[in-house]
Amino acid sequence: MVSSIFGSGSKSISVHTGFFINIKVLLELYRNHLKSIGALIEETFDYSHLQLRENYFVYQDTSFDYVIFCEGYKSLSNPYFSNIPIYPNKGQCLILDLELPNQMPVVSPGILTPYLYNYTYFGSTYERGNSNNVPDAAGRELLLEMLNEMITLPAKVKDHMSGIRATTPDRKPLIGRHKEFSNMILFNGFGTKGLSLAPYFAKQLIAHILGEVELNPEINPYRFKNL
Ligand SMILES: Cc1cc2nc3c(=O)[nH]c(=O)nc-3n(C[C@H](O)[C@H](O)[C@H](O)COP(=O)(O)OP(=O)(O)OC[C@H]3O[C@@H](n4cnc5c(N)ncnc54)[C@H](O)[C@@H]3O)c2cc1C
Repeated sequence: MVSSIFGSGSKSISVHTGFFINIKVLLELYRNHLKSIGALIEETFDYSHLQLRENYFVYQDTSFDYVIFCEGYKSLSNPYFSNIPIYPNKGQCLILDLELPNQMPVVSPGILTPYLYNYTYFGSTYERGNSNNVPDAAGRELLLEMLNEMITLPAKVKDHMSGIRATTPDRKPLIGRHKEFSNMILFNGFGTKGLSLAPYFAKQLIAHILGEVELNPEINPYRFKNL
């Protein structure tokens, strides 16, 4: 370990090549772009208003060829895919007033990685079955314990955040057509890896809809027994 902030007995390792995606900014910019071309309506989708026709769908007086559900853990309330196993897994993280030496990410037991404005991200917890998306004292305490194993300096907590991952029994995503309504598609189950996996699988799904490729059977939402 190169720096003085890590104790000599630290089991952490530094990562020499890595990228940090500022997802908040990325999503905001993309949302603005979609709005500017009239491709985004920001409101809660009401399943009861979706009308199923022979080869298309009607929602709020507009017809659509496809419906693709990308709701994360909230798909637990999707009546069309209610039998597909998705488990909420809460993750909490901290933003620390700490500058990492050489801006180099460090992993184990948590992940310390450079964040905006010279702050450092530290995460995260893995709380299976927990879908309460509010940062809590127990999560903060656990994170600070993990942090103490990694660094020798006290670090000031600037922010404390949480999110809910949509996890699956075999850690693979759930992407595919509804058994009965073939133009209704599930795009979900990204668990801990949505940012890394979603672009790849979105490309595969679009190619599939255009009739160019088959979807990888390993991501079939109905791959589990009894479905
Ligand atoms: C602490 C933490 C750290 C993470 N770190 C990483 C990482 O380093 N790398 C990585 O690849 N992944 C990471 N992840 C995982 C990543 O965040 C998820 O895999 C990813 O967010 C999944 O994206 P998604 O679009 O499928 O679901 P979500 O991000 O959950 O998005 C679903 C969206 O659909 C909306 N929605 C749901 N139902 C409706 C409805 N009826 N009407 C309208 N809108 C609706 C929700 O409000 C939400 O905005 C992390 C997760 C956590 C919690």
